[in-house]
Amino acid sequence: MPKVKILPPETSAKIAAGEVIENPASVVKELLENSLDAESTAITIELKDAGKSLIKVKDNGTGIEKGDLETIFLRHATSKIRDITDLEHTYTLGFRGEALYSIAAVSEVSLKSTQDTSGSGWQIYLKAGEKLYLKPASLLKGTEVEIKNLFYNLPARRKFLKTSQAELRKIMRLIIPYTLAQPQISFEISNNQRKILTLIPAKDRIDRIKQVLNLPANNIISVPFREPEIQGELFLGDINIQRPRRDMQFLFINQRPVYNNIINFHLNQAYRMIMQEKIYPFFIAWLNIPAEYVDVNIHPAKYEVRLKNEQKITGLLRKLCEKALLSRSKIKKPHIRIKPASISRPLLMSKDYNSPTLEKYEQLSIQNSQSLFEASALYSHTEAHIQKALKEKLTSAFYIGQFAKKYLFFENPPSLIIMDQHAAHERVNYEAILRQAKDNLIEAQHCLTPQIISLSTEETIAWEEIKETLEKIGFSTTLWDKNTLAIHTYPRILKDPGHCLKNILSVEEPEKPKDLEQIAKRACRSSIMANQPLNPEQAKWLVRELLKCENPFACPHGRPTVIEIDIGFFEKEFLRR
Ligand code: ADP
Ligand code: MG
Repeated sequence: MPKVKILPPETSAKIAAGEVIENPASVVKELLENSLDAESTAITIELKDAGKSLIKVKDNGTGIEKGDLETIFLRHATSKIRDITDLEHTYTLGFRGEALYSIAAVSEVSLKSTQDTSGSGWQIYLKAGEKLYLKPASLLKGTEVEIKNLFYNLPARRKFLKTSQAELRKIMRLIIPYTLAQPQISFEISNNQRKILTLIPAKDRIDRIKQVLNLPANNIISVPFREPEIQGELFLGDINIQRPRRDMQFLFINQRPVYNNIINFHLNQAYRMIMQEKIYPFFIAWLNIPAEYVDVNIHPAKYEVRLKNEQKITGLLRKLCEKALLSRSKIKKPHIRIKPASISRPLLMSKDYNSPTLEKYEQLSIQNSQSLFEASALYSHTEAHIQKALKEKLTSAFYIGQFAKKYLFFENPPSLIIMDQHAAHERVNYEAILRQAKDNLIEAQHCLTPQIISLSTEETIAWEEIKETLEKIGFSTTLWDKNTLAIHTYPRILKDPGHCLKNILSVEEPEKPKDLEQIAKRACRSSIMANQPLNPEQAKWLVRELLKCENPFACPHGRPTVIEIDIGFFEKEFLRR
């Protein structure tokens, strides 16, 4: 009997849907893009349970005529391209004609639309892709699409959805770039009847940036440019806008929010002139390029794009960015790079060894001396044994001094012990906060007047979710308005509570750390002692505190706090052996 069968249409529809529709955010994306393509000037997005129960998108765009209402739900039904040459020149957001078809296959859909302002139009209702009815409906202008019970017929998918907060964050992360791209359009977004974001038409893009991201306009540099095949504008945050992650970096190509690894990398690199490592700038790159230079072969649901003349464009953007930053900001002196020293790194875990830069580093070490082999021989003992020995050495070590406002040197011949003061301090604070939280003995500092910080919409959502845990570690906070947080108390050992909170609330992954340990870890990331001169008393205090820790030799993020160099290393380098 032949084994090959053609799948029944319901099954293939569900499979096709799976490619386009992953979660509520992808439904929102498709509906939003359709509304934008229809030249709307006002868009309302209403969600229930972060879109799991309801996604309703209402626009005042061109509308759909009655005769098309059934057709648009067929596969590959689109009004946006006619043939393959159109594909090369398309500037609209959607063009594959698959979105409505895919959404309808996995939900209940009601779509009302009208093309005039008579107040009446038509409504079509579908369930699992089947039309149930088409009837007259009243509505003022444009189109209103309601998606209910997403994935009700794909229980596995439905189960796979994240918590409402996580799904909501994904949705907001998706919507925000579109709101930035279209400053003239008003948006209203709500979840469970609570307004999350209300945007009236903005004067210009900077005004919209202010509305959406809550950034001060006078810290944004605008750099318009025009070249033969590319024109656009860069919006560059200056040194005063510093983010702990790359969450405020946007690229738009021909109005579409996209991501391009190479452009992102080079713009961040340009900022290294004025910002330390691990601190990220805000920027928007707004580019208009002939559509045929953008690779249309990749899936339009995908965010990542390739460009045909990527290098040239990247070079141009980087130069523009550097020039603007140079003329605007005070520049850090470029650091002189010394060749990686041939120092053994006894506490480095072997899992790091496959990083390419590290590999190079290790090779150099090996070439320069045999220290790495010595180190590995030395540390072939068990880790507990090493730690115990190192603890003993550190306890009785003599403090030599500080180097580069970052590293503390101790001697206990035949060992030279070097401590990364920042990593060590993070460890100390981290364990202190956890200990206090677990014993319910938080040492909280009261603010005489509440300290105010402004939050982005995403940060506000994150705050809602973890405010109880924040209380446990000593942060008592209240929301003043949608984007302003007041800090009333904070853990006493943290010196810059506003900065710490920002660190905790800004998220890269849609899954927000919720548990105490992860939050404490984030809070300590901005522990004070980086780049700070320490006197011998402070240095010795840090050693004492570190030695009290349960796990003294790694910072909460896994970096070593202490390295040890054996005198043999120096003897070899100075050719004494
Ligand atoms: P695509 O957007 O790729 O063309 P869709 O399945 O998203 O495919 O939509 C199919 C068609 O339905 C669109 O080409 C457009 O003509 C029409 N359409 C969908 N949503 C709207 C809307 N909000 N306003 C006007 N027309 C719409
Ligand atoms: Mg579409």
